[in-house]
Amino acid sequence: MEYLFIRYGQGKNSLLTVGKFFGLHLAAIMMLQIVLVARLPWLDRRIGMDRLTVWHRWIGFGLVWTLILHFTFIIVGYADLASQPPWDTFLSLAGVTASLLGMVAAVIILVVASISVRYVRRRLPYEAWHGLHLLLYVALGIGLVHQAFEGTTFDSTWATVYWWSVWGLVLAALLAGRVAVPVWRNLYHRFTVAAVVPESDNVVSVHITGQHLDKLPARAGQFFIWRFPGHHGWWRANPFSLSAAPNGRSLRLTAKAVGKGSAGLRNVPVGSRVFVEGPYGAFTTIHQTRPASLLIAGGVGITPIRALLEEPGGPTTVLYRVHTVEEAVLLPELQALAKARGAQLYVLTGRTGAGTPPNVPFAPANLAAAIPDIVQRDVFVCGPPAMTDAVVHSLRALGVPRRQVHAEKFSLA
Ligand SMILES: Cc1cc2nc3c(=O)[nH]c(=O)nc-3n(C[C@H](O)[C@H](O)[C@H](O)COP(=O)(O)OP(=O)(O)OC[C@H]3O[C@@H](n4cnc5c(N)ncnc54)[C@H](O)[C@@H]3O)c2cc1C
Repeated sequence: MEYLFIRYGQGKNSLLTVGKFFGLHLAAIMMLQIVLVARLPWLDRRIGMDRLTVWHRWIGFGLVWTLILHFTFIIVGYADLASQPPWDTFLSLAGVTASLLGMVAAVIILVVASISVRYVRRRLPYEAWHGLHLLLYVALGIGLVHQAFEGTTFDSTWATVYWWSVWGLVLAALLAGRVAVPVWRNLYHRFTVAAVVPESDNVVSVHITGQHLDKLPARAGQFFIWRFPGHHGWWRANPFSLSAAPNGRSLRLTAKAVGKGSAGLRNVPVGSRVFVEGPYGAFTTIHQTRPASLLIAGGVGITPIRALLEEPGGPTTVLYRVHTVEEAVLLPELQALAKARGAQLYVLTGRTGAGTPPNVPFAPANLAAAIPDIVQRDVFVCGPPAMTDAVVHSLRALGVPRRQVHAEKFSLA
Protein backbone atom coordinates (compact mmCIF):
# COMPACT_ATOMS: atom_id res chain seq x y z
CA MET A 1 0.00 0.00 0.00
CA GLU A 2 2.83 2.41 0.89
CA TYR A 3 4.44 1.64 -2.48
CA LEU A 4 1.17 2.39 -4.28
CA PHE A 5 0.82 5.64 -2.39
CA ILE A 6 4.38 6.82 -3.10
CA ARG A 7 4.09 5.78 -6.78
CA TYR A 8 0.56 6.97 -7.54
CA GLY A 9 -0.78 8.94 -4.56
CA GLN A 10 0.37 12.55 -5.15
CA GLY A 11 -2.24 15.24 -4.54
CA LYS A 12 -2.53 18.68 -6.14
CA ASN A 13 -0.43 20.20 -3.36
CA SER A 14 1.53 18.81 -0.44
CA LEU A 15 -1.33 19.34 2.04
CA LEU A 16 -3.67 17.30 -0.17
CA THR A 17 -1.00 14.61 -0.53
CA VAL A 18 -0.87 14.33 3.27
CA GLY A 19 -4.70 14.32 3.35
CA LYS A 20 -4.75 11.47 0.83
CA PHE A 21 -2.12 9.62 2.87
CA PHE A 22 -4.39 9.74 5.93
CA GLY A 23 -7.46 8.88 3.82
CA LEU A 24 -5.74 5.80 2.46
CA HIS A 25 -4.64 4.72 5.93
CA LEU A 26 -8.12 5.41 7.26
CA ALA A 27 -9.49 2.93 4.73
CA ALA A 28 -6.74 0.42 5.60
CA ILE A 29 -7.54 0.72 9.33
CA MET A 30 -11.22 0.19 8.50
CA MET A 31 -10.30 -3.02 6.70
CA LEU A 32 -8.28 -4.19 9.69
CA GLN A 33 -11.18 -3.34 12.02
CA ILE A 34 -13.56 -5.39 9.89
CA VAL A 35 -11.24 -8.40 9.85
CA LEU A 36 -10.91 -8.21 13.65
CA VAL A 37 -14.69 -8.39 14.17
CA ALA A 38 -15.50 -10.68 11.23
CA ARG A 39 -15.51 -13.66 13.64
CA LEU A 40 -13.32 -15.69 11.37
CA PRO A 41 -13.02 -19.11 13.03
CA TRP A 42 -9.27 -19.57 12.38
CA LEU A 43 -8.42 -16.10 13.72
CA ASP A 44 -10.69 -16.48 16.73
CA ARG A 45 -9.29 -19.90 17.69
CA ARG A 46 -5.75 -18.52 17.70
CA ILE A 47 -6.26 -15.12 19.30
CA GLY A 48 -9.61 -15.26 21.10
CA MET A 49 -12.59 -12.95 20.68
CA ASP A 50 -11.87 -11.03 23.89
CA ARG A 51 -8.37 -10.06 22.72
CA LEU A 52 -9.62 -9.31 19.19
CA THR A 53 -12.30 -7.07 20.69
CA VAL A 54 -9.75 -5.21 22.83
CA TRP A 55 -7.58 -4.63 19.74
CA HIS A 56 -10.69 -3.50 17.82
CA ARG A 57 -11.44 -1.00 20.57
CA TRP A 58 -7.97 0.57 20.66
CA ILE A 59 -7.52 0.55 16.90
CA GLY A 60 -10.95 2.22 16.74
CA PHE A 61 -9.59 5.23 18.58
CA GLY A 62 -6.60 5.29 16.17
CA LEU A 63 -9.14 5.28 13.34
CA VAL A 64 -10.87 8.35 14.76
CA TRP A 65 -7.60 10.33 14.91
CA THR A 66 -6.73 9.27 11.35
CA LEU A 67 -10.19 10.41 10.25
CA ILE A 68 -9.73 13.82 11.90
CA LEU A 69 -6.32 14.25 10.23
CA HIS A 70 -7.67 13.17 6.83
CA PHE A 71 -10.55 15.64 7.08
CA THR A 72 -8.35 18.52 8.32
CA PHE A 73 -5.65 18.14 5.67
CA ILE A 74 -8.17 17.80 2.81
CA ILE A 75 -10.04 20.96 3.89
CA VAL A 76 -6.85 22.96 4.47
CA GLY A 77 -5.35 21.60 1.23
CA TYR A 78 -8.31 22.66 -0.91
CA ALA A 79 -8.53 26.00 0.93
CA ASP A 80 -4.89 26.60 0.07
CA LEU A 81 -5.49 25.60 -3.57
CA ALA A 82 -8.48 27.93 -3.95
CA SER A 83 -6.95 30.67 -1.74
CA GLN A 84 -10.09 30.83 0.39
CA PRO A 85 -10.83 30.38 4.12
CA PRO A 86 -11.20 26.72 5.30
CA TRP A 87 -14.84 27.28 6.35
CA ASP A 88 -15.80 28.37 2.78
CA THR A 89 -13.95 25.34 1.42
CA PHE A 90 -15.83 23.12 3.86
CA LEU A 91 -19.16 24.52 2.65
CA SER A 92 -18.29 24.16 -1.03
CA LEU A 93 -17.05 20.57 -0.47
CA ALA A 94 -20.29 19.80 1.36
CA GLY A 95 -22.05 20.66 -1.90
CA VAL A 96 -20.17 17.91 -3.76
CA THR A 97 -21.85 14.49 -3.41
CA ALA A 98 -18.62 12.50 -3.00
CA SER A 99 -17.27 14.75 -0.23
CA LEU A 100 -20.68 15.07 1.43
CA LEU A 101 -20.88 11.27 1.71
CA GLY A 102 -17.45 11.23 3.34
CA MET A 103 -18.63 13.88 5.83
CA VAL A 104 -21.77 11.89 6.70
CA ALA A 105 -19.69 8.73 7.27
CA ALA A 106 -17.30 10.77 9.43
CA VAL A 107 -20.12 12.12 11.60
CA ILE A 108 -21.48 8.59 12.18
CA ILE A 109 -18.03 7.31 13.12
CA LEU A 110 -17.48 10.21 15.54
CA VAL A 111 -20.88 9.66 17.20
CA VAL A 112 -20.22 5.92 17.64
CA ALA A 113 -16.71 6.63 18.95
CA SER A 114 -18.14 9.03 21.53
CA ILE A 115 -20.56 6.41 22.89
CA SER A 116 -17.69 3.91 23.07
CA VAL A 117 -15.66 6.04 25.48
CA ARG A 118 -15.60 4.02 28.69
CA TYR A 119 -17.53 6.62 30.74
CA VAL A 120 -20.49 6.67 28.32
CA ARG A 121 -20.27 2.96 27.45
CA ARG A 122 -20.68 1.94 31.12
CA ARG A 123 -23.83 4.02 31.42
CA LEU A 124 -25.58 2.66 28.33
CA PRO A 125 -27.45 -0.67 28.33
CA TYR A 126 -25.56 -3.24 26.25
CA GLU A 127 -28.34 -3.47 23.63
CA ALA A 128 -28.47 0.34 23.15
CA TRP A 129 -24.70 0.57 22.75
CA HIS A 130 -24.62 -2.41 20.39
CA GLY A 131 -27.54 -1.08 18.30
CA LEU A 132 -25.79 2.28 17.84
CA HIS A 133 -22.49 0.53 17.14
CA LEU A 134 -24.18 -1.24 14.20
CA LEU A 135 -24.50 2.20 12.55
CA LEU A 136 -20.84 1.71 11.67
CA TYR A 137 -21.98 -0.64 8.90
CA VAL A 138 -23.93 2.30 7.46
CA ALA A 139 -20.78 4.45 7.76
CA LEU A 140 -18.81 1.69 6.06
CA GLY A 141 -21.26 1.56 3.12
CA ILE A 142 -21.27 5.34 2.74
CA GLY A 143 -17.48 5.43 3.13
CA LEU A 144 -17.10 2.90 0.31
CA VAL A 145 -19.32 4.96 -2.01
CA HIS A 146 -17.25 8.03 -1.03
CA GLN A 147 -14.07 6.20 -2.03
CA ALA A 148 -15.59 4.95 -5.28
CA PHE A 149 -16.87 8.45 -6.22
CA GLU A 150 -13.61 10.16 -5.32
CA GLY A 151 -11.75 7.58 -7.39
CA THR A 152 -8.65 9.74 -7.56
CA THR A 153 -6.53 8.09 -4.91
CA PHE A 154 -4.49 6.06 -7.39
CA ASP A 155 -3.73 7.38 -10.81
CA SER A 156 -3.27 3.83 -12.14
CA THR A 157 -5.66 1.09 -13.28
CA TRP A 158 -3.82 -1.80 -11.73
CA ALA A 159 -3.41 0.02 -8.41
CA THR A 160 -7.17 0.67 -8.42
CA VAL A 161 -7.91 -2.98 -9.23
CA TYR A 162 -5.58 -4.10 -6.44
CA TRP A 163 -7.23 -1.73 -3.94
CA TRP A 164 -10.78 -2.86 -4.70
CA SER A 165 -9.74 -6.52 -4.71
CA VAL A 166 -8.42 -6.13 -1.16
CA TRP A 167 -11.72 -4.48 -0.16
CA GLY A 168 -13.57 -7.37 -1.84
CA LEU A 169 -11.66 -9.91 0.24
CA VAL A 170 -12.28 -7.99 3.46
CA LEU A 171 -16.03 -7.74 2.81
CA ALA A 172 -16.16 -11.41 1.82
CA ALA A 173 -14.48 -12.29 5.14
CA LEU A 174 -17.09 -10.20 6.99
CA LEU A 175 -19.99 -11.85 5.18
CA ALA A 176 -18.51 -15.31 5.67
CA GLY A 177 -17.83 -14.91 9.41
CA ARG A 178 -20.94 -12.93 10.33
CA VAL A 179 -23.56 -14.36 7.97
CA ALA A 180 -22.65 -17.38 5.85
CA VAL A 181 -21.01 -19.58 8.51
CA PRO A 182 -23.65 -18.93 11.24
CA VAL A 183 -26.59 -19.37 8.85
CA TRP A 184 -25.13 -22.55 7.40
CA ARG A 185 -24.34 -23.97 10.88
CA ASN A 186 -27.85 -23.30 12.15
CA LEU A 187 -29.50 -24.81 9.10
CA TYR A 188 -27.25 -27.86 9.30
CA HIS A 189 -27.38 -28.47 13.06
CA ARG A 190 -30.93 -27.27 13.84
CA PHE A 191 -30.19 -26.51 17.51
CA THR A 192 -33.12 -27.12 19.89
CA VAL A 193 -33.60 -26.79 23.65
CA ALA A 194 -33.62 -30.30 25.14
CA ALA A 195 -33.90 -29.44 28.84
CA VAL A 196 -33.74 -26.54 31.27
CA VAL A 197 -32.27 -27.47 34.64
CA PRO A 198 -32.13 -25.03 37.58
CA GLU A 199 -28.74 -25.30 39.32
CA SER A 200 -29.54 -22.82 42.12
CA ASP A 201 -31.88 -19.90 42.80
CA ASN A 202 -30.19 -17.75 40.16
CA VAL A 203 -28.29 -20.18 37.95
CA VAL A 204 -29.78 -22.37 35.26
CA SER A 205 -28.38 -24.88 32.75
CA VAL A 206 -29.82 -25.18 29.26
CA HIS A 207 -29.18 -28.41 27.38
CA ILE A 208 -29.21 -28.15 23.59
CA THR A 209 -29.51 -30.91 21.04
CA GLY A 210 -29.33 -30.83 17.27
CA GLN A 211 -28.34 -32.72 14.19
CA HIS A 212 -24.79 -33.82 13.32
CA LEU A 213 -23.40 -32.29 16.51
CA ASP A 214 -20.38 -34.56 16.16
CA LYS A 215 -19.43 -32.37 13.15
CA LEU A 216 -19.57 -29.12 15.17
CA PRO A 217 -15.94 -28.00 15.69
CA ALA A 218 -16.45 -26.95 19.33
CA ARG A 219 -14.03 -27.59 22.19
CA ALA A 220 -14.17 -27.44 25.96
CA GLY A 221 -13.46 -23.86 27.10
CA GLN A 222 -15.18 -22.21 24.14
CA PHE A 223 -18.36 -20.14 24.09
CA PHE A 224 -21.23 -19.47 21.72
CA ILE A 225 -23.43 -16.43 21.24
CA TRP A 226 -26.94 -17.70 21.85
CA ARG A 227 -30.29 -16.40 20.64
CA PHE A 228 -33.63 -17.83 21.71
CA PRO A 229 -35.78 -16.10 19.07
CA GLY A 230 -39.14 -17.63 20.00
CA HIS A 231 -38.74 -16.68 23.63
CA HIS A 232 -36.58 -13.55 23.80
CA GLY A 233 -36.54 -11.00 20.97
CA TRP A 234 -34.39 -12.19 18.04
CA TRP A 235 -32.09 -9.20 18.62
CA ARG A 236 -31.10 -10.40 22.11
CA ALA A 237 -27.86 -12.35 21.86
CA ASN A 238 -25.78 -13.38 24.85
CA PRO A 239 -22.42 -15.08 25.05
CA PHE A 240 -22.30 -18.15 27.31
CA SER A 241 -19.53 -20.72 27.61
CA LEU A 242 -20.10 -24.42 27.27
CA SER A 243 -20.36 -25.79 30.80
CA ALA A 244 -19.65 -29.35 29.66
CA ALA A 245 -17.25 -30.58 27.00
CA PRO A 246 -19.14 -31.12 23.73
CA ASN A 247 -19.81 -34.84 23.33
CA GLY A 248 -21.18 -34.91 19.78
CA ARG A 249 -24.77 -35.35 20.98
CA SER A 250 -25.55 -32.27 23.06
CA LEU A 251 -24.26 -28.93 24.29
CA ARG A 252 -24.85 -27.30 27.65
CA LEU A 253 -24.65 -23.72 28.83
CA THR A 254 -24.99 -22.63 32.45
CA ALA A 255 -26.01 -19.04 33.08
CA LYS A 256 -26.26 -16.83 36.13
CA ALA A 257 -29.22 -14.42 36.10
CA VAL A 258 -27.78 -10.93 35.65
CA GLY A 259 -30.24 -9.08 33.43
CA LYS A 260 -33.29 -9.87 31.31
CA GLY A 261 -31.54 -12.22 28.86
CA SER A 262 -29.88 -14.50 31.39
CA ALA A 263 -32.78 -14.42 33.88
CA GLY A 264 -35.27 -15.36 31.14
CA LEU A 265 -33.41 -18.58 30.31
CA ARG A 266 -35.21 -20.29 33.21
CA ASN A 267 -38.45 -20.05 31.20
CA VAL A 268 -37.20 -21.05 27.76
CA PRO A 269 -39.58 -23.74 26.48
CA VAL A 270 -38.17 -27.21 25.86
CA GLY A 271 -38.29 -27.95 22.12
CA SER A 272 -37.83 -24.30 21.07
CA ARG A 273 -35.28 -23.43 18.39
CA VAL A 274 -31.99 -21.82 19.31
CA PHE A 275 -29.89 -19.70 16.97
CA VAL A 276 -26.23 -20.08 17.72
CA GLU A 277 -23.08 -18.25 16.60
CA GLY A 278 -19.77 -19.91 17.31
CA PRO A 279 -17.89 -21.72 18.66
CA TYR A 280 -15.57 -18.89 19.63
CA GLY A 281 -12.65 -18.41 21.96
CA ALA A 282 -9.03 -19.40 22.44
CA PHE A 283 -9.55 -20.56 26.05
CA THR A 284 -8.82 -24.18 25.14
CA THR A 285 -6.13 -26.79 25.66
CA ILE A 286 -4.96 -26.22 22.05
CA HIS A 287 -2.75 -23.52 23.55
CA GLN A 288 -1.54 -25.62 26.49
CA THR A 289 2.27 -25.73 26.69
CA ARG A 290 2.93 -27.83 29.84
CA PRO A 291 1.49 -31.18 30.95
CA ALA A 292 0.35 -29.90 34.38
CA SER A 293 -2.39 -27.32 34.76
CA LEU A 294 -4.04 -25.10 37.32
CA LEU A 295 -7.67 -24.19 36.66
CA ILE A 296 -8.97 -21.13 38.54
CA ALA A 297 -12.64 -20.14 38.49
CA GLY A 298 -14.50 -17.26 40.12
CA GLY A 299 -18.27 -17.70 40.60
CA VAL A 300 -20.08 -18.61 37.39
CA GLY A 301 -16.66 -18.49 35.68
CA ILE A 302 -16.66 -22.16 36.64
CA THR A 303 -18.53 -22.99 33.40
CA PRO A 304 -15.60 -23.27 30.94
CA ILE A 305 -13.37 -24.58 33.75
CA ARG A 306 -15.87 -27.40 34.37
CA ALA A 307 -15.72 -28.24 30.64
CA LEU A 308 -11.90 -28.09 30.61
CA LEU A 309 -11.78 -30.53 33.52
CA GLU A 310 -13.23 -33.15 31.18
CA GLU A 311 -10.29 -32.82 28.79
CA PRO A 312 -7.66 -35.50 29.25
CA GLY A 313 -4.42 -34.07 30.64
CA GLY A 314 -1.64 -34.24 33.21
CA PRO A 315 -1.72 -33.31 36.91
CA THR A 316 -4.50 -30.80 37.51
CA THR A 317 -5.58 -28.60 40.40
CA VAL A 318 -8.83 -26.63 40.43
CA LEU A 319 -9.34 -23.54 42.63
CA TYR A 320 -13.01 -22.52 42.76
CA ARG A 321 -13.55 -19.07 44.34
CA VAL A 322 -17.00 -18.36 45.78
CA HIS A 323 -18.31 -16.44 48.77
CA THR A 324 -20.08 -19.45 50.29
CA VAL A 325 -20.12 -23.17 49.44
CA GLU A 326 -23.85 -22.84 48.65
CA GLU A 327 -22.91 -20.52 45.74
CA ALA A 328 -20.63 -23.16 44.24
CA VAL A 329 -22.80 -24.33 41.34
CA LEU A 330 -21.94 -27.57 39.54
CA LEU A 331 -19.92 -28.64 42.62
CA PRO A 332 -21.05 -32.31 42.70
CA GLU A 333 -20.11 -32.67 39.02
CA LEU A 334 -16.73 -31.09 39.63
CA GLN A 335 -16.07 -33.37 42.58
CA ALA A 336 -16.94 -36.45 40.51
CA LEU A 337 -14.79 -35.32 37.55
CA ALA A 338 -11.86 -34.40 39.81
CA LYS A 339 -12.05 -37.79 41.50
CA ALA A 340 -12.22 -39.61 38.16
CA ARG A 341 -9.07 -37.95 36.82
CA GLY A 342 -7.17 -37.68 40.12
CA ALA A 343 -7.30 -33.88 40.18
CA GLN A 344 -7.31 -31.76 43.34
CA LEU A 345 -10.31 -29.49 43.82
CA TYR A 346 -10.35 -26.69 46.41
CA VAL A 347 -13.32 -24.43 47.05
CA LEU A 348 -12.07 -21.06 48.37
CA THR A 349 -14.78 -19.26 50.33
CA GLY A 350 -15.13 -15.95 52.18
CA ARG A 351 -15.15 -12.29 51.26
CA THR A 352 -11.94 -10.95 49.74
CA GLY A 353 -10.04 -8.83 52.26
CA ALA A 354 -12.14 -9.99 55.26
CA GLY A 355 -10.57 -11.34 58.49
CA THR A 356 -7.06 -11.27 59.95
CA PRO A 357 -4.89 -11.93 58.08
CA PRO A 358 -7.01 -10.65 55.17
CA ASN A 359 -8.54 -13.30 52.90
CA VAL A 360 -6.66 -12.78 49.60
CA PRO A 361 -6.30 -16.27 48.12
CA PHE A 362 -4.92 -15.01 44.82
CA ALA A 363 -2.17 -12.82 46.27
CA PRO A 364 1.17 -14.03 44.84
CA ALA A 365 2.44 -15.47 48.14
CA ASN A 366 -0.80 -17.37 48.79
CA LEU A 367 -0.95 -18.78 45.26
CA ALA A 368 2.69 -19.88 45.47
CA ALA A 369 2.06 -21.53 48.84
CA ALA A 370 -1.01 -23.39 47.54
CA ILE A 371 0.61 -24.49 44.25
CA PRO A 372 4.39 -24.67 44.77
CA ASP A 373 5.08 -25.79 41.16
CA ILE A 374 2.86 -23.04 39.67
CA VAL A 375 5.63 -21.83 37.33
CA GLN A 376 5.67 -25.26 35.66
CA ARG A 377 1.93 -25.24 34.98
CA ASP A 378 -0.40 -23.81 32.41
CA VAL A 379 -2.94 -21.67 34.26
CA PHE A 380 -6.51 -21.26 32.97
CA VAL A 381 -8.42 -18.53 34.80
CA CYS A 382 -12.02 -17.48 34.27
CA GLY A 383 -14.11 -15.17 36.40
CA PRO A 384 -15.28 -11.61 36.81
CA PRO A 385 -12.89 -9.12 35.13
CA ALA A 386 -11.48 -7.78 38.44
CA MET A 387 -10.68 -11.27 39.76
CA THR A 388 -9.21 -12.42 36.46
CA ASP A 389 -6.98 -9.33 36.29
CA ALA A 390 -5.83 -9.86 39.89
CA VAL A 391 -4.91 -13.51 39.19
CA VAL A 392 -3.07 -12.64 35.97
CA HIS A 393 -1.19 -9.91 37.85
CA SER A 394 -0.12 -12.39 40.55
CA LEU A 395 0.94 -14.95 37.96
CA ARG A 396 3.20 -12.32 36.36
CA ALA A 397 4.65 -11.46 39.77
CA LEU A 398 5.39 -15.15 40.34
CA GLY A 399 7.16 -15.41 36.98
CA VAL A 400 4.67 -17.70 35.23
CA PRO A 401 5.50 -17.23 31.53
CA ARG A 402 2.85 -15.37 29.51
CA ARG A 403 2.32 -18.27 27.10
CA GLN A 404 1.26 -20.46 30.08
CA VAL A 405 -1.46 -18.03 31.18
CA HIS A 406 -4.91 -18.35 29.57
CA ALA A 407 -7.65 -15.99 30.73
CA GLU A 408 -11.35 -15.60 29.92
CA LYS A 409 -13.02 -12.55 31.46
CA PHE A 410 -16.72 -12.97 30.66
CA SER A 411 -16.63 -9.49 29.20
CA LEU A 412 -15.93 -8.40 25.66
CA ALA A 413 -14.00 -5.10 25.99
C1 LIG B 1 -17.00 -14.95 26.35
C2 LIG B 1 -18.07 -14.88 27.43
C3 LIG B 1 -18.53 -16.04 28.01
C4 LIG B 1 -19.51 -15.98 29.00
N1 LIG B 1 -19.92 -17.14 29.60
C5 LIG B 1 -20.85 -17.08 30.57
C6 LIG B 1 -21.31 -18.29 31.21
O1 LIG B 1 -20.90 -19.40 30.87
N2 LIG B 1 -22.23 -18.16 32.20
C7 LIG B 1 -22.72 -16.93 32.60
O2 LIG B 1 -23.54 -16.87 33.49
N3 LIG B 1 -22.30 -15.78 32.02
C8 LIG B 1 -21.38 -15.83 31.01
N4 LIG B 1 -20.98 -14.67 30.41
C9 LIG B 1 -21.58 -13.40 30.83
C10 LIG B 1 -22.93 -13.26 30.13
O3 LIG B 1 -22.74 -13.14 28.74
C11 LIG B 1 -23.68 -12.03 30.60
O4 LIG B 1 -23.90 -12.16 31.98
C12 LIG B 1 -25.01 -11.97 29.91
O5 LIG B 1 -24.84 -11.75 28.53
C13 LIG B 1 -25.84 -10.86 30.53
O6 LIG B 1 -26.91 -10.55 29.67
P1 LIG B 1 -28.34 -10.12 30.23
O7 LIG B 1 -29.18 -9.84 29.06
O8 LIG B 1 -28.83 -11.10 31.23
O9 LIG B 1 -28.01 -8.83 31.04
P2 LIG B 1 -27.79 -7.36 30.54
O10 LIG B 1 -28.15 -6.50 31.68
O11 LIG B 1 -28.42 -7.13 29.21
O12 LIG B 1 -26.20 -7.39 30.33
C14 LIG B 1 -25.33 -7.29 31.43
C15 LIG B 1 -23.92 -7.17 30.86
O13 LIG B 1 -23.59 -8.38 30.16
C16 LIG B 1 -22.81 -8.08 29.02
N5 LIG B 1 -23.49 -8.53 27.79
C17 LIG B 1 -24.82 -8.64 27.55
N6 LIG B 1 -25.05 -9.08 26.31
C18 LIG B 1 -23.83 -9.25 25.75
C19 LIG B 1 -23.39 -9.67 24.47
N7 LIG B 1 -24.24 -9.99 23.50
N8 LIG B 1 -22.07 -9.70 24.23
C20 LIG B 1 -21.18 -9.34 25.18
N9 LIG B 1 -21.53 -8.95 26.41
C21 LIG B 1 -22.83 -8.89 26.69
C22 LIG B 1 -22.63 -6.59 28.96
O14 LIG B 1 -21.41 -6.24 29.58
C23 LIG B 1 -23.79 -6.08 29.79
O15 LIG B 1 -23.53 -4.83 30.32
C24 LIG B 1 -20.02 -14.71 29.40
C25 LIG B 1 -19.57 -13.56 28.79
C26 LIG B 1 -18.62 -13.63 27.80
C27 LIG B 1 -18.16 -12.37 27.14
